[in-house]
Amino acid sequence: MKFPIGELLDANAALHNRSNLGQLGVRGVGKPDTPVDLEISVTDRRASGFRIAGTVNTALTLPCDRCLKAKIVRLSTNFNCWVALEDAPEYDDDAIRLAPGDNKVALNGLVGEAILLAVPSKIVCRENCAGLCPHCGQDLNIEQCGCQRDELDPRWADLLKIKAKFKK
Ligand SMILES: [Zn+2]
Ligand SMILES: [Zn+2]
Repeated sequence: MKFPIGELLDANAALHNRSNLGQLGVRGVGKPDTPVDLEISVTDRRASGFRIAGTVNTALTLPCDRCLKAKIVRLSTNFNCWVALEDAPEYDDDAIRLAPGDNKVALNGLVGEAILLAVPSKIVCRENCAGLCPHCGQDLNIEQCGCQRDELDPRWADLLKIKAKFKK
């Protein structure tokens, strides 16, 4: 997605844009056609450049950590970035630098990165998801399997390992 600089600088209100995960090059967190809504506003205007603030809204499809079933996870995240119109050394390396004659600012990279940084590290389809049986893989939310699950006191686990060694 590219925003004309003139449009950004003239805007009195936030600009909106809709793209999708595929267009942003974001993979592995949902279908490529998953919509991504971006709201962007200019928060600081100077001769040397301007600062943009963006809000990204999308819904990712991620596997439950316990049962692997796909879960839709709403995601809302923010980013902001300085866009340097000239090479002013006081601005950090993270600034978007425009090549001479460039009249549009491309935000695909920034938006994609913001989404990936906001992906939650823990996903459970529901609070009491029973997960999969570690022995046979049966989804225990649907049906119990015949496997024996020993509710083992973790303090005994090491002892059992030692015991298993002697059996060999
Ligand atoms: Zn689950
Ligand atoms: Zn089982």
